Amino acid sequence: MNRFFIDPKDINKEDITAVIRGESVKHISRVLRMMVKDRLIISDGLGNSFMGEISEISREEVRVLLLERLDKKSEPELQVNLGQALVKGEKMDYIVQKCTELGVSTIVPFAAERSVVKVSEKKARDKTTRWQKIARGAAEQSHRDRIPEVRAVTVLESILVEETDLLLFLWEQESNRGLKEVLREHVNINKITLLVGPEGGFTEEEVELAVSRGAVSVSLGPRILRTETAAAAAVTMIIYELGDLGEINV
Ligand code: SAH
Repeated sequence: MNRFFIDPKDINKEDITAVIRGESVKHISRVLRMMVKDRLIISDGLGNSFMGEISEISREEVRVLLLERLDKKSEPELQVNLGQALVKGEKMDYIVQKCTELGVSTIVPFAAERSVVKVSEKKARDKTTRWQKIARGAAEQSHRDRIPEVRAVTVLESILVEETDLLLFLWEQESNRGLKEVLREHVNINKITLLVGPEGGFTEEEVELAVSRGAVSVSLGPRILRTETAAAAAVTMIIYELGDLGEINV
């Protein structure tokens, strides 16, 4: 069943209808060739989803009759906030897409000292818009009820001061603590923040700064992973261990 995120304002709870506008309209009529009476899922991106039936299709909009509210949970209760060092274009796109599929709540790109890409403020805004769009597409595709928020590009310090239950950073030089054991020591947490470094890794200063703010450095094991692999692998391990990955779909 195809899922579409629409603006919460376009859901009318009184007459239980919804209106799909924008790019999805063309997708529905031209690409998917859907017709009146066809069914789809409507989500407001905030956690509310409905089974709907198309009642009208025009060039500008698709009108939908909402048949029932869907209660099946596709969101993990555990919130994973991914702080990702800026990496080159397609890698960042990949990270946003895969981590959205896996179930992250928030993605916060930050300019690390060894980040190769340096972005101007205007460019950073365009990039955020692009990543937010990728997150939306991936959330639709993976049938999530929420679209993860992709925040504006920031600096490491500002992620370190955010409230969280467990603040972890992936450090390939960590030789005392593995992610596996740290997660097993924190089975009852609700929110976890994960920091992943750029291609060149974190600098000594960044490691010191993170540790001084209470971050715990962890290893992902004996092999050095590329940053995009490290992000997806760590998110998988976290949501597998403390969230709903690997569970049955009820
Ligand atoms: N340039 C570094 C590797 C950086 S890997 C080197 O050659 O040594 C890029 C990022 O992925 C790192 O900053 C870290 O956050 C993460 N990473 C990759 N492999 C890891 C591992 N085995 N353990 C912990 N973090 C890892």
